[in-house]
Amino acid sequence: MDSALTTDPELLEKVINLAKRRGFVFASAEIYGGFRSTYDYGPLGVNMLRNVKAAWWRTMVQMRVDVVGLDAAILGPPAVWAASGHLETFTDPLVDCRKCKERWREDKIDGVCPNCGSTEFTEARAFNLMFKTQAGPVEGEGATAYLRPETAQGMFTNFNNVLSSTRKKPPFGIAQIGKSFRNEITPQNFVFRTREFEQMEMEFFVAPAEAEQWYRYWIDQRYDWYVDLGIAPDQLRLHEHALEDLSHYSRGTTDVEFAYPWGWDELEGIANRGDYDLTQHSQASGAKLEYFDQGTNERYTPYVIEPAAGATRAMMAFLLAAYHEDVVEGETRTVLRLDWRLAPYQVAVLPLSKKPELEGVSQEVLALLQPHFACDYDVTQSIGRRYRRQDEVGTPWCVTVDFDSLEDRAVTVRDRDSTEQVRVPIAELLASLRARTQ
Ligand code: ATP
Repeated sequence: MDSALTTDPELLEKVINLAKRRGFVFASAEIYGGFRSTYDYGPLGVNMLRNVKAAWWRTMVQMRVDVVGLDAAILGPPAVWAASGHLETFTDPLVDCRKCKERWREDKIDGVCPNCGSTEFTEARAFNLMFKTQAGPVEGEGATAYLRPETAQGMFTNFNNVLSSTRKKPPFGIAQIGKSFRNEITPQNFVFRTREFEQMEMEFFVAPAEAEQWYRYWIDQRYDWYVDLGIAPDQLRLHEHALEDLSHYSRGTTDVEFAYPWGWDELEGIANRGDYDLTQHSQASGAKLEYFDQGTNERYTPYVIEPAAGATRAMMAFLLAAYHEDVVEGETRTVLRLDWRLAPYQVAVLPLSKKPELEGVSQEVLALLQPHFACDYDVTQSIGRRYRRQDEVGTPWCVTVDFDSLEDRAVTVRDRDSTEQVRVPIAELLASLRARTQ
């Protein structure tokens, strides 16, 4: 399979099966029959998801002096969501099929019930996507809280705190990774659309006159991030929203789209939010969310450029793009061609046999590599089978310890993609693997 075939309709099933079988993603509460649209990330999935988030944080925060991080609360008071517009406008139009009684999002069905084909529906009703709950032991208006449906508002409500504590000035950004919750009517396509998911968002505050330029800059940066981590350019495209399709806060939105098995769909959105958010929160809270430029003696409300990505959705796209089947020595193998930065394990240490003589050197090699790489250690089955198992989960390098290793103090390093094997002295192993990550 070549890189253009992420649109293969069978690919989704294959990746879902692999994800379950090898411990990437499990249906949540499965022993109780599952809980629709919630998923648990297994031993390999949690590694990969953390790697996706770490890669984002590295690019967006660590490698920049103009972006700082934040980790804000998930629970919030209604006032935040009234000011942001979510209480009023964060809704989907819902209709019921008059014939089979199924409930649908009106904008997704083109007037025909996907279940029974009927064209008779009830009037559309607005359905708010936020999860509402109670904080504290007393019920009633004062105790109402919402689970955040996006991480962005934490960056706006902390604007003054970040400004005064870090002395940053526009152009600068605040980045956050964390869970968000939306009561989606039609969760679907595995972890593409779920009710509980993880976002990676950054709010970049700029002088209004520079907003357009920064908007274009972030579109390019975000597209390049996916390409750098292994998604082929022909599996990605940019889709700029027409003016009439823009959200109430947006002055321009461009989606990075991915060629999913069901067609082009959103991976990430980059929006020019203007001064909407800071103005709304200033008016509602009474706090002045502005910037005073001492150079020009000007006070202004910064515009916001927001690249908003889903961590779980990105992980799924990386899995789909990495999935390949090829033929090695006459045998079909499944291989995840994941970038080493995203792979659940970077190295597998494989003693050739279970014989106790190999244990000592193998443990020594493991101890040498573990501080630097996520390592698996596997002594079961034939070495060929073990290579296949590592290929299937995307481990870029296997290090095999054999009986010669006891004499020559060297091991075999096997490359996942080329299947090429080279002998490397243990004393040079770390440097040799590091060189492969350059
Ligand atoms: P959609 O149109 O697909 O509902 P959206 O445009 O409302 O998404 P944003 O509010 O811009 O999405 O959220 C930013 C990113 O968060 C999306 O690009 C996506 O990667 C992720 N995301 C949003 N909703 C979900 C969800 N229900 N499940 C998984 N990821 C999501």
